[in-house]
Amino acid sequence: MAFGSLSLSETLVKNLQGHMKLEKPTHIQEASIPPIMNGHDAMVKAETGSGKTLSYLIPIVQKLTEQRVNRADGCYSIVISPTRELCTQIFEVLQKLLKPFYWIVPGIIMGGEKRDSEKARLRKGINLLVATPGRLLDHLQHTKSFPTHNIRWLVLDEADRLLDLGFEKDVTSIINLLDEKKLRSSVRQNILVSATLNEGISRLASLSLHNPVYIGL
Ligand code: AMP
Repeated sequence: MAFGSLSLSETLVKNLQGHMKLEKPTHIQEASIPPIMNGHDAMVKAETGSGKTLSYLIPIVQKLTEQRVNRADGCYSIVISPTRELCTQIFEVLQKLLKPFYWIVPGIIMGGEKRDSEKARLRKGINLLVATPGRLLDHLQHTKSFPTHNIRWLVLDEADRLLDLGFEKDVTSIINLLDEKKLRSSVRQNILVSATLNEGISRLASLSLHNPVYIGL
């Protein structure tokens, strides 16, 4: 299969094949892109190296390029990842993917800088956010002008490592907070990516996913 047969825009396909030099989708991308683009919640079993990051970033970016996006709209999508290193890797992929779509603003929040400067960046507007759970929860609770009313996608990446590193409580609080604020939760699409499945993952899945499609199982 080619990227060109996945109902992606010509610009996006050109970016993937040209700038990013990816010849064709990996198996996990082939399986994930259509259902995620169709709006389904998804539970994706995939390891690092499978191309899992693009399996959720491509459909999100494709959908966002089909509508008007302004910086002032605030956050459309949050990807939660357990470590600063992983957040940085995801952010780098996102930046490459967004190259032709310069008006969509990506951002990273992971506690590597002062809380106030992160707050200022959030206030200015980040459309696609990659974040570690602790700092994200902190901002959701304390940064009043963090615009969250447009959130349409929530991705829990490396969910097994989120649990291993003790983030279940923070992630649960984040999901509850987003649901509680009724931040258009009826239209929020949720995606969980994990290399392994266990009881903790099932708990996170039942908390965050609604009628998910299972991919890679
Ligand atoms: P990930 O599983 O998202 O951590 O990706 C692992 C590696 O696979 C990264 O170095 C990506 O650049 C690479 N990759 C992602 N998608 C593709 C693709 N369709 N073809 C070749 N390499 C890819």
